[in-house]
Order: sequence, then C-alpha cells, then structure tokens
Amino acid sequence: MEGRNEKRRSALFSGKMDMEDMENVLALYRDLFQLNEMDPPLDRPPRELAEKEVRMRLAEGFTLVDPEEILPDGPELAIRIRDVLKILQRHSEDPDSLTGDLKDLIDQPGRLDLLVGTFLREGEESVRKSLASMKDVNPEVAIFVLFNALKVPFLGAARRCRGIDTTAWEKGSCPVCGGEPAVACLIGEGGKRFLICFRCETRWRYRRMACPYCGHEDPKESVFLYSEDADHGALSASVCGQCLSYIKGWRVEGEDPGELCPEIEDLKTPGFDRAVQEEGYLRGAPNVFGLWIGSPDEEAPDRD
Ligand SMILES: [Zn+2]
Ligand SMILES: [Zn+2]
Repeated sequence: MEGRNEKRRSALFSGKMDMEDMENVLALYRDLFQLNEMDPPLDRPPRELAEKEVRMRLAEGFTLVDPEEILPDGPELAIRIRDVLKILQRHSEDPDSLTGDLKDLIDQPGRLDLLVGTFLREGEESVRKSLASMKDVNPEVAIFVLFNALKVPFLGAARRCRGIDTTAWEKGSCPVCGGEPAVACLIGEGGKRFLICFRCETRWRYRRMACPYCGHEDPKESVFLYSEDADHGALSASVCGQCLSYIKGWRVEGEDPGELCPEIEDLKTPGFDRAVQEEGYLRGAPNVFGLWIGSPDEEAPDRD
C-alpha cells in the first residue's frame, strides 16, 4: 500500500511541532522514517498462514505473528542497530557518548540476543531492569535503538498480514504482533474506533469506550480531554479512570480517514501529551518511534 506511505510521508515532512524547542526531535523522526523507507525488510518467505489457522488464532487471542519469528539474525540486527545509532548521533550533542552507551552490547552478540528476547517477550521495563547492572549502558538509548532497529521487520510483518480480516480480534493489543496501540482514530458519526500499533503500525477495530491498556469499560466514567489548539480540533485523549493511562485519538468525519495519519499526527503533538499528563494521566504506549514523548522527565534519549 504505497498510498498510505505517501500520506504518512507528507504528513511528517509538512508538519511542525505543537510546542517550542522540539524541532530537533521532529528532524530525528524524519530521518528514522527515511531509514525505514529506504531499507525495506529483507524478503524472507512469510510463514504460510492458512485461512483456518488465521481464524483460529484471532478467535482464540493469539497474534498472527510471533515476534520472535521475525527477528533479524545477528549480523542483520547489528547493521540495523548501527544505522539507527548513526541517525541518533546526528541529532545528539554528544555523539561519542552514544557509541560508548552501546558498544558493550554490540560487541557481545550473545548478550544482545538475550536482551532482544527480553524486549520482545517482556517489554521495555524488563530491559531497563536487566540493563541496570551494566553501568556503561544507558538503558534509554539502548531501548530506543533496539526498538527502531526492529522496526523494519515489524513493518514487514504487518505488510504481509494487511489483507487479513481481523474483525474477530477483541483485544486492545495488536492482532499482528501483540504491541500496544500508540493512538486511536474515530471514524464516522457513531465513532467506530480503530487503534494503531506502536510497533508494526497495523490498524484494528476496538470497542469505543474501553481502555485498550487494561480493558476497563464504563461508559458513565468515560472521559475525553480535548486539545485547545485550533490546529488540532479533531484531537482528543480518552483517559482511563482505572489504570490512569490515556490514548490520543483523532476524529474523522465520514467513513474515510482520507489524508489523516494519526500515528504521524501523534509525533507532532507532544504539547498535547504534556497537557494531558499535567492532569495526572500517563501515556499507555510509546509513539511509533518508541518514545514516551511529552513525559516531563523523558524527552528524546539524547537530551543529556
Ligand atoms: Zn503490531
Ligand atoms: Zn485502563
């Protein structure tokens, strides 16, 4: 679907940030976007998914792809890590320290494999814990670089699954890879809600009022916070009274999302995240480049 990529590209390259002093972060996203565009996933034959298996997996809550199956092998992963690191260095005030941050890891493929396994099975909090003992590795840099080094294989998996009907899937996590939703999109009058995976960027339908992160649903308590910025009138955040997380959503009139790419608009609206976080809520998942941007204590990983 080249059309979708073109839309995403023009949304990212024509836009600006909704808050000051973030231009460098936008430039970082643009470079990462171009890297992913330039570097399509190696064509490994997809595992055949028979129609019956697809139906069974979706109905029983198993993702279409097991993330560990699409992992690049050691040498490919190392190349991808270096590519992402190079981009991060271009936007860093202290590029040399970044190499130091990761050198120990890149030089020890065994350790890297373990870490990637932990990342995919248990998530970034576990990576943070297991890196806490390596004093020369900055966990935030490592997580950012790993996430983006794995981006292309995930996008490839999503592309292979794009034609599959996932309406039987009922979870708040991605039917393709199990990732959490970065953002939501509300389409039409009744507001059908679609979520977009922060990892493989697949869209899938989800209950309109439920929290995708904890499943809590109570229409009486459902709270939306709206952007006060006139440029972002269609933007709101749906907040959960149970787990206190929020998800940003874009409302689209009519049935066709048209030019709108919520996952890209998300990158350009960190100011709105900050406003919602000041109300006491936390993002439920990072953005599509793996950053929890907008959090008061976590900007780009190269900030200090
Ligand atoms: Zn996914
Ligand atoms: Zn929740």
